[in-house]
Amino acid sequence: MHHTQEEQITSKNTDELLDPEKSDRVMLIRNRISRIFFLRKFFTYPISLDADTLSKLGLKQVLRIIATYAAIRINPVKSEKNLEDFLINKFGKELYITFFKDYTEKVWGVPSRDIKPEWGSQRIRGVSIKRSIVNALKKAANRLSFSRAKLDLHEDTNFMYPKFGPGQMWEEVARLIEEKGGKIFLNHRVVGIKHYPDNMSSVEFVEVKEMGAKCTQKIHGDYFFSTMPVKELISGFDRASVPKKVLRVASGLLYRDFITVSVLFSELKIKNDTSIKTINNIVPDNWIYIQERDVKIGRLQIFNNWSPYMVKDENTVWVGLEYFCSEGDVLWSKSDSEIADFAIDELASIDIIDKKKVLDSTVVRMPKAYPAYFGTYDHFNVVRGFTDAIQNLFLIGRNGMHRYNNTDHSMLTAIVAVENIIKGVKTKDNIWDVKAVLTERVS
Ligand SMILES: Cc1cc2nc3c(=O)[nH]c(=O)nc-3n(C[C@H](O)[C@H](O)[C@H](O)COP(=O)(O)OP(=O)(O)OC[C@H]3O[C@@H](n4cnc5c(N)ncnc54)[C@H](O)[C@@H]3O)c2cc1C
Repeated sequence: MHHTQEEQITSKNTDELLDPEKSDRVMLIRNRISRIFFLRKFFTYPISLDADTLSKLGLKQVLRIIATYAAIRINPVKSEKNLEDFLINKFGKELYITFFKDYTEKVWGVPSRDIKPEWGSQRIRGVSIKRSIVNALKKAANRLSFSRAKLDLHEDTNFMYPKFGPGQMWEEVARLIEEKGGKIFLNHRVVGIKHYPDNMSSVEFVEVKEMGAKCTQKIHGDYFFSTMPVKELISGFDRASVPKKVLRVASGLLYRDFITVSVLFSELKIKNDTSIKTINNIVPDNWIYIQERDVKIGRLQIFNNWSPYMVKDENTVWVGLEYFCSEGDVLWSKSDSEIADFAIDELASIDIIDKKKVLDSTVVRMPKAYPAYFGTYDHFNVVRGFTDAIQNLFLIGRNGMHRYNNTDHSMLTAIVAVENIIKGVKTKDNIWDVKAVLTERVS
């Protein structure tokens, strides 16, 4: 991102702007490929009952999957009380136990029975098990062998990705805001909020410093958009001005925290076993979901496959190892080097890497990565009722709404909030119903 906007606009050759070899302000069109790693083998993601899966799971297990899927279709769980009910209704008991139970518990650190089913509908993509089973049976009837053919992955989902990763997009947005006269306070934290019954008047904020005095600043505004965790937003209000029930529900909202360990390898032990061509034959995946039960690691990212420009030497492989955890737990409390050693040991233990191939590593802790659909989440409407009534306050984004919104949904909540202001729309229901808004706009 070294070019100024002027340079971009006056450039005669607009093609040049789209060429990542010539410009940094480029979105790359990438293929989305994710797989599941289980029983030291790769499975398609989302899981499908194709010939490849059948050959890897074995006939006995496949028959169990089909039988339990048929059973749940005939006799579904009538009212889904928790995520386990939701998943069993969708996939049948055997498929749930094989591919969803352990992983979900790795992500959340609690049994699926303790999680609200809404998380499933927000997050779990539809998989046509019925179609998979029909196809599998047809193939069986045609006596197609379930031998392990070279995995035929489809590269049919494309997405746009900034040349240097998602942060680059927000650096660019920040640049545009400042160019238009906006002021951004990085490393500052909102700590206090003043409001009259139905309007917010100002926020107080402090610079986040390792040490030293913190000086509180105050800013007034016409409109306020909040992406800070709802729990912290509510605790920033004057306690006396917030109903007790709202305080109680907000303080009981829970989060799941996250550690990513990035490790640079000279090569991986797993090799590209697909029909997709890759540089140096590295695996083609963006994400690899680790379903192995003997390790804590949840997911791997291969940064080379997000954008090759994020890796200095294309002969090396940058891998992001993702750990779902809770702030202050055993893993979180280890030193960075202990965490890196632990993560590398885990990857070696499931035969993904050879420890001798490690070149470098770095550890990043991300508190409140995921808003949890348990704790006091059941009563979230109490908080929503309070914040919705403050006319010039808009809760947007992921933690801002305590919703498992992805980036598209998060950005759209901000867009809809601004549109509401411009059009004089008073309700905030369309912001909360962002999934429906997206479906409407895309179709
Ligand atoms: C590991 C991981 C992988 C993901 N992968 C994907 C993906 O592949 N695709 C996808 O679509 N989505 C993905 N997401 C989700 C995506 O990151 C979120 O949906 C999105 O970032 C939410 O945007 P946001 O603006 O609400 O929150 P954020 O991007 O988290 O921004 C919130 C901002 O508020 C600031 N803030 C918090 N508290 C305060 C305070 N008190 N005062 C001032 N500022 C404060 C924070 O510093 C931060 O800058 C992923 C998330 C995680 C954790």
